[in-house]
Amino acid sequence: MRKKLVAGNWKMHGSLQENSTLLNALVKGIPELESDPSCAVCVPYPYLASVQSELQNTNIKLGAQNVSQHEKGAYTGEVSASMLKDFNCTYVIVGHSERRMLFGESSQVVAEKYVAAQKAGLVPILCVGETLEQRDSDVTERVINDQLSAVITLAGVNSLENAIVAYEPVWAIGTGKTATPQQAQEIHHFIRQGIAAQNEKLAAGMTILYGGSVKASNAAELFAMSDIDGGLIGGASLIADDFIAICKAIR
Ligand code: PGA
Repeated sequence: MRKKLVAGNWKMHGSLQENSTLLNALVKGIPELESDPSCAVCVPYPYLASVQSELQNTNIKLGAQNVSQHEKGAYTGEVSASMLKDFNCTYVIVGHSERRMLFGESSQVVAEKYVAAQKAGLVPILCVGETLEQRDSDVTERVINDQLSAVITLAGVNSLENAIVAYEPVWAIGTGKTATPQQAQEIHHFIRQGIAAQNEKLAAGMTILYGGSVKASNAAELFAMSDIDGGLIGGASLIADDFIAICKAIR
């Protein structure tokens, strides 16, 4: 059985007050699981401490949205993986398209962040995905392959055993334009096949999330696809009822 996960990516949203209201509703609304917690929220750095304490004794896991590739040192403004671990983070998103595009993170840097995260005992949620231009020029598979290869070259394919891959087509992020379940499934299958060529067993057990305008209304049909194991949720993770509905859709 593959591990399922719905992770909220709050991006640069929230305040102490808003977070508290949202978390209260989530804790009430997300039913207890017998095992295998399958919901997480990835929050802005300054809120790690307060969210950690609000999530204590709940089955919602904590994550961050970025991490430094460096362990420690003179890197003003950066946050290390061991610091995230100090706040009991389970997950950290690496290589989100907003980081790649707006902050110039190359696939090499993303791979280094992935390694730093794993070294500290965090599970990286590695985002890959093509832009609309790339999809239109039929290079989607090559783009995703290159993004994955950078990580596999640096960390080895077996490192994916302690990682989660998120397929997020850039054209579907925050645009309200979701990939159809078939479009998403096609790429998820492509990703799993690519890994299977190197390690079949690992590929079969690997969690691959879909991200890009997942909503309460489309989550179930996306999650019903055979290679989609959950979602990375932006906008809808800020609305308690929507996020709860999406978390329930994965069960
Ligand atoms: P969205 O964002 O759900 O708002 O499209 C997804 C993401 O960026 O992870």
